[in-house]
Amino acid sequence: MLLDCDDPQVGRLVATYVARLGLPADHLAITCHRKVYRDWLGRRVDASLGGAYTYLRRTQQHAILINLERIDRDQPKALEIVVAEELLHMRDFLDGDHRRHAKHGYDRIADRVAALTGATLTEVRTCLLPVKRRPLRYRYACPACGLAIWRRVRGTWSCRRCAPVFQRRYQLILQHDALAGDDALAAR
Ligand SMILES: [Zn+2]
Repeated sequence: MLLDCDDPQVGRLVATYVARLGLPADHLAITCHRKVYRDWLGRRVDASLGGAYTYLRRTQQHAILINLERIDRDQPKALEIVVAEELLHMRDFLDGDHRRHAKHGYDRIADRVAALTGATLTEVRTCLLPVKRRPLRYRYACPACGLAIWRRVRGTWSCRRCAPVFQRRYQLILQHDALAGDDALAAR
């Protein structure tokens, strides 16, 4: 087994669940670093993931990411839940079950992770840190009805109240940038 992680708790939990799930460890590679995992896979990895499992056919390796930066370590079972879940995916793969998640935290996999770890379903659902979303920064307004709409990004839309599909004459006009202030907007 390759364990690319300095966190001793990860090592202990991996050993525990490899044994409990009866997994062969000789072709198992685990990293806590998303960039290392990206290099293993040869493609980018969603930064919001708490963990990931992939079978790499080329090298015949079971590759697991434990994405520590996304795991809410204030919750006592969070790390255990993620480690157990990714190793459960490996167990399923070896057993010929290649189905994906129906809905993370609410599907048959969540039920099995809860049973396996002794965690509640609530703990399974909340083991990751909340994803930081961009703030609602830009206020647009409809030139016809005056409807105000906040957006996270700049773009081109028309008023949903005046036009069910895009119409240039109802195109929303940028009025306010909450981060830059109105002066910066007027200067453009
Ligand atoms: Zn309108």
